[in-house]
Amino acid sequence: MTTPDGDPAIHGSSATALWQGLMGRGDAGSGEVGSYIDGALHPGDGEQIGLVDPADEQQILAYADGGAEAVDAAVQAAQIAQQRWWGMTASERGRVLWRTGQLLREQREPIARLEARTGGKVLADARAETTKVAEMFEYYAGWADKQHGEVIPVPTTHLTYTLREPFGVVAQMTPWNAPVFTAGWQLAPALAAGNGVVLKPSELTPLTSIVLARLIEQAGAPQGLVAVIAGLGPTAGQRLVTHPGIGKVVFVGSPATGRRISAAAAEQLIPCVLELGGKSANIVFEDADLERAVGGAAAAIFSGAGQSCVAGSRLLVQRSVHDQVVERLGELAQSLRQGDPLEAGTQVGPVQNRAQLERITELVDGATGRGETSGGTGRRAEVVAGGTRLERPGFFFPPTVLAGVTNADPIAQQEVFGPVVAVIPFDDEAEAVQIANDTDFGLAGAVWTGAVDRAHRVARRLRAGTIWVNSYKTINVMAPFGGFGHSGHGRSSGLDGLMEYSEPKAVWVETDAEAPLAFGY
Ligand code: NAD
Repeated sequence: MTTPDGDPAIHGSSATALWQGLMGRGDAGSGEVGSYIDGALHPGDGEQIGLVDPADEQQILAYADGGAEAVDAAVQAAQIAQQRWWGMTASERGRVLWRTGQLLREQREPIARLEARTGGKVLADARAETTKVAEMFEYYAGWADKQHGEVIPVPTTHLTYTLREPFGVVAQMTPWNAPVFTAGWQLAPALAAGNGVVLKPSELTPLTSIVLARLIEQAGAPQGLVAVIAGLGPTAGQRLVTHPGIGKVVFVGSPATGRRISAAAAEQLIPCVLELGGKSANIVFEDADLERAVGGAAAAIFSGAGQSCVAGSRLLVQRSVHDQVVERLGELAQSLRQGDPLEAGTQVGPVQNRAQLERITELVDGATGRGETSGGTGRRAEVVAGGTRLERPGFFFPPTVLAGVTNADPIAQQEVFGPVVAVIPFDDEAEAVQIANDTDFGLAGAVWTGAVDRAHRVARRLRAGTIWVNSYKTINVMAPFGGFGHSGHGRSSGLDGLMEYSEPKAVWVETDAEAPLAFGY
């Protein structure tokens, strides 16, 4: 018997059982975790890394860091497989990507449950993200045979055209907040452009990325084309970005690590895309539909327990409606159901790990004056909702609304990466734009207004890679995504994201056998 929620055999499964089921018992043995290289799991031999259920702090599985040796083997296998992949027709590559999308749809439930258990992600969100990964593979399947070059009308007798060529093997590093989503987001375009990939997911959440690599092979990709390293940043990650067999680095993570990755790529003279953090401004004007704006503001920061790079962590509210908005947002924050991510009805889960919980606590204590560092202006933020971690097992921090904040305060400048919003008042449109842009980051932002002219004017003036009007957090693989400033450079998603994974080559063919031979240009 199946329930509306899916197969009951999957329903109550432990993370180990889900993992074994998805990997096939033959491969995964007793639930062993290792790097996925050349079609098989390879246990590491370095430091032990425990995977913990964020909802109850119990260890789920443990594995040994794959380290530099795993990376070396993965790059070698991916190089061989990439030659085969690039030797296939573009249409064949497209069919493999399409089939991957289909397999993801078939396996959505166990993948989403594994993601929810290991990432602390609310099940409905994990399902939605897994579906989005299927969409990514389907979208880029369509692009696989449409990456043609151009014929350029040069002023000579040459036929001059361009070809787009892959980098070979690309390195990708992804964070823990959306493991399968960020893996699919980068793998699908990289493969559509003809590359092989060595992916290093966060050491805290490697399982669903490994499952995805295996599905890609089951869909018909050459064995070894996608490797996933189960290992630590300073060992496996560092080796990956400095490996001479890597043609390009794509990094999704924090600005601090992004800086190190960028320096390592520069040393290797290879290009690098950085998708980093944010401190996005969500601007509510007095002429907005306030009930929708407040609902949007809550979703912008509390969904995913605020662990989203585009979280609306600064809420800028026009002074005339400020108190009304703050009061309503506080009520909404307190009404959200927080609990086990796999329980029906849960809206906000735990944060993914203890270090993140401690960082959130430290930043909130600093802002409210409870901690060592009070705000930069010395002012104490007013706690409208939440404010302290929940007294229960699991890494739970409640939806928190802090008012009386200025944009100069650390809580308004630093990425919290948790369910914490700082509310900042403004008087007019010019001040709203000035405050919104007064940040090192530039990943996203939103405008809530009933005036169409203001909506477009402000959207244009905000310095960020994605702007929503009367909406928040909608993203789709068809549109480009990426940051300005410290939020990174380069783009993911859409055609822009695909173009990051190949480079043009110009071919000049002389069509006139009598043309004078130039001595120089
Ligand atoms: P992180 O920077 O700590 O880690 C990201 C990845 O880099 C992990 O796989 C990690 O193991 C690896 N790494 C760490 N040190 C390394 C090193 N020296 N060399 C190579 N690799 C190394 O980030 P996190 O804490 O896992 O994730 C949270 C951050 O990710 C937040 O800042 C968030 O905003 C950002 N993020 C950005 C986007 C985006 O698209 N812009 C999306 C999701 C998350």
